[in-house]
Amino acid sequence: MSRTTRKTGAKERVDLLIANAEELLTLRGGPEKPRSGKEMRELAIVRDGAVAVRDGRILGIGTTKDILRQFKGGYIISAQGKTVLPGFIDPHTHLVFAGSREDEFEMRVAGTSYMELTSSGGGALRTAKETRSARLEKLVELGLERLDAMLSHGTTTVEAKSGYGLTTSDELKILEATRRLNQLHSVNVVSTLMGARAVPPEYHNNPKEFVNLVLTEMIPRVADRGLAEFCDVFCERGAFSLEQTKQILVKGKAAGLKPKIHADEFSQLGGAEIAADVGAVSAEHLVYSSIEGIKALARKGVIAVLLPAAAFSLMLGRYANARLMLDSGLPIALGTGFDADCWVESQQLVIAMACRFMHMTPAEAITAATINAAYAVNRASEVGTLEVGKRADILVLNVPNHSFIGYRFGGNLTDKVIKNGRLVVDREKQGEPVFMNKTE
Ligand SMILES: [Zn+2]
Repeated sequence: MSRTTRKTGAKERVDLLIANAEELLTLRGGPEKPRSGKEMRELAIVRDGAVAVRDGRILGIGTTKDILRQFKGGYIISAQGKTVLPGFIDPHTHLVFAGSREDEFEMRVAGTSYMELTSSGGGALRTAKETRSARLEKLVELGLERLDAMLSHGTTTVEAKSGYGLTTSDELKILEATRRLNQLHSVNVVSTLMGARAVPPEYHNNPKEFVNLVLTEMIPRVADRGLAEFCDVFCERGAFSLEQTKQILVKGKAAGLKPKIHADEFSQLGGAEIAADVGAVSAEHLVYSSIEGIKALARKGVIAVLLPAAAFSLMLGRYANARLMLDSGLPIALGTGFDADCWVESQQLVIAMACRFMHMTPAEAITAATINAAYAVNRASEVGTLEVGKRADILVLNVPNHSFIGYRFGGNLTDKVIKNGRLVVDREKQGEPVFMNKTE
């Protein structure tokens, strides 16, 4: 890297310098594809690291000594005692929905299964009903609040799936809300059409006709209006069959929507095999996937998007077999799975769960929540690592090294979030807490 070796001449002026990071996790120098196996443990750490930023891009990265010799900044952030890394990318959310289902949560705690709730009109179908009756402006307002929470936990890019509309006009409304959220909020929002999230009640006796609606109306209209980049299907018993899933993903692909799939979340239906078959970008959940399915995904270079918080929230008592996936050379990305059943905005917590429930190391989980997640949403050339030329989406965490990410959990480790080179979250400036019970 020429910029870190130049020793003479005037210092170049930059907008922002982040200096003295205890650990700077660059994740640079990896392969030009999603990382797998041992590559997922390589964080390319610079100790006493610094980053120079101008016009929203990374201009220099290296040791503090080298960077301060070459650049002078405008704004300087001291990251002494802290860990600096790429902003998190959350590759699986259902960001836009109305209402909440805390009453169902109480029923699930008492033993009712998710599929039982769905078959009695609860679950996703109830959220769909509430989302259908919500105005576009309301959905945008709710989305903005959720993006604020995600950003404060260090997420700078998020994927958002539709699927709580289940009519063409309501799916378009959700995707339009998603488009506005991307414009209004500093978090980048990547849009996915998931018209086949559930069979709505009006098609209960004729699910084939609903699949037909997705094929002939939703996909063409969404593609025409450029409202989504990806197409996703809930492939599961009681939702969409392997054959229907394939039909929808193939049609979406022909219309320019890259395929994703919700596979093997509640049973071993063979969704992983279908994902490999259609050449999906990612297969998501994979809690019950077969060994053959995992190997097929690895052969085809499909990314496994794992959602331990979803399995935790639904109390499945089981998690995806991440170690087998890593041994099979399957790249893993991690997402929150944020939706009305899994209301979690924090990739920090997801990493803590991935370490404990799926035995991923903190380094593997960090790779999964940054560069591999960037690949899962087709943004790896822009974000996911800290390298010269990439967008300056940078997270400063209030911990001295990367092993703390996952180790310390339940709170928010964020100190600062920089988005496109701008400081957008500064938790250091929130003031001192007030302890009401303190006596003089
Ligand atoms: Zn999902």
